[in-house]
Amino acid sequence: MSSTPLIVAIDGPAGAGKSTVSRSLASRLGLEYLDTGAMYRAVTHAAISRGVALEDTEAVAALAGTIRLRVAHGRTSVDGVDISESIRGDAVTAAVSTVAANSAVRQVMRDLQRAWGLARAGGVIEGRDIGSVVFPDALLKVYLTASPRVRAERRVAEVGGDVDEMEKAIIQRDLKDSSRSDSPLSASSDSIVVDTAGRSVEAVVEEIVTMIAQRRTAIGS
Ligand code: C5P
Repeated sequence: MSSTPLIVAIDGPAGAGKSTVSRSLASRLGLEYLDTGAMYRAVTHAAISRGVALEDTEAVAALAGTIRLRVAHGRTSVDGVDISESIRGDAVTAAVSTVAANSAVRQVMRDLQRAWGLARAGGVIEGRDIGSVVFPDALLKVYLTASPRVRAERRVAEVGGDVDEMEKAIIQRDLKDSSRSDSPLSASSDSIVVDTAGRSVEAVVEEIVTMIAQRRTAIGS
């Protein structure tokens, strides 16, 4: 392992395959994996369950700064209570983009994410702003994408529901995430865009592993 932390940033919109690809890539590389979406979801869940109004940006930011947030090994907990299932529910999914647009919340999350990276020799980190803002010096930045229809079909295959409704919800969340002023969702100019439509997880992971090897050879690490 080189002395340069091996940070691989996997960004992209909802349903592009980030979680599946990131988990599989991390296990392939023997690195840990951080799901930063789960962090924003956990703050949103905490605000809803404690009756904090999402529009009260100061109160939500104060909450984000005081809760004990743990995201590891596919589980998420706040103050010792496991909320892994409830953060995937409709209430949190519909509200999370509002919380994620809160700059003070983002600052708290960014600090935690950077500390996570610094504490390790490397890791695979998935989110919306990892390559663009949180780890601008990541060894490799991948932006996974697919059309809203393809992403909706995938989500429906996983969790059920109506494809048209899911597509609408996905487009709405994309719009909120990409139009906020702080760290909007976008592919940074130095990221490699990978369209996952019609491709297997294995094929995408293989492509990323090859990119990492090429990048390490290029920088001589
Ligand atoms: O990836 P996931 O769909 O779980 O992310 C939930 C939400 O968290 C996103 O829609 C976005 O609003 C927010 N998010 C973010 N920045 C990240 C990761 C997630 O704003 N790095």
